Amino acid sequence: AAKRAGRNRICRFDKSLDDNLRRRRAIEAGLSKAIAGKELELHYQPIIDGNTLNVAGFEALLRWKSAELGQVSPAVFIPIAEESGLIRSIGDWVIRQALNDCCDWPQQYVAINLSARQFNGADMVQILRGHADTAGVPYHRVHIEVTETAFFEDARGAAETLGALQSLGFGIALDDFGTGYSSLFSVKNFPLDVIKIDKCFIDGLGLEPQAAPIISAVIHLARGLGLKVVAEGVETEDQRQALQLLGCSHLQGYLFSKPQSRSHILTWLKARQTAERKSF
Ligand code: C2E
Ligand code: MG
Ligand code: MG
Ligand code: MG
Repeated sequence: AAKRAGRNRICRFDKSLDDNLRRRRAIEAGLSKAIAGKELELHYQPIIDGNTLNVAGFEALLRWKSAELGQVSPAVFIPIAEESGLIRSIGDWVIRQALNDCCDWPQQYVAINLSARQFNGADMVQILRGHADTAGVPYHRVHIEVTETAFFEDARGAAETLGALQSLGFGIALDDFGTGYSSLFSVKNFPLDVIKIDKCFIDGLGLEPQAAPIISAVIHLARGLGLKVVAEGVETEDQRQALQLLGCSHLQGYLFSKPQSRSHILTWLKARQTAERKSF
């Protein structure tokens, strides 16, 4: 009986591997038609200035509603797009779309996530510059968000590209700070304007004694280097208060707004600005 159970277990294991592979292929096939099929959409999530509580910018977050697979999370399809090389065309679409959309809100910047793979071989400076010029968006209104993985394969090349972008006026944000292997190395070696503290540290506020001292240290580090800090994934009023006491310059999370479609975020922005005027 034990043997049979064992064999069954192996069978199940093989089957789930097979299912995974099939799903992966389906995602790849679906993604390759997603642009032409108009299945991609950008949602926007506000980034709030912690001192004034004004909206400083909006982060563009990609949404995919596949005809065959339904809604698929970017946490699932972005890695597959990276491995299959589809990230180039998808990333290009994201940049173009985000730069068009941000003309709707002339006061705030737009933050665009870029994958490590988009850097390799492609001339990111030309691509970003070209799309910004076409859309008529000044470079300083565009932030790019990269994670440390962008630096792994060709650190010197990445530093040069980021440096060129920064000197043109683009803002550079290091995303998911603290979750990589060499966060301090990255801060030392790459031109940056913003550090985004990963949600996992914010989650710990009020629950784990380590959370506040770690966040405080990152804020001091950033201040010493003249960088701004965004706390990611702020969900509660208690977290907001703690972060403001710690001197965090910017806040982002469901407490303020979930990522929303372009038209919804504009309605949200108008309502917020009306409320602001009333409170003066
Ligand atoms: P990220 O850039 O670190 O984005 C933050 C993620 O946290 C987003 O998930 C956002 O919706 C979510 N989030 C924000 N505030 C809260 C909160 O208060 N609570 C919770 N539970 N979650 C919150 P999303 O949209 O699923 O994106 C996941 C990741 O996919 C992003 O992480 C980014 O790495 C990647 N991604 C999304 N859009 C793009 C894109 O256009 N290009 C590239 N290359 N990657 C993208
Ligand atoms: Mg991001
Ligand atoms: Mg992040
Ligand atoms: Mg992330």
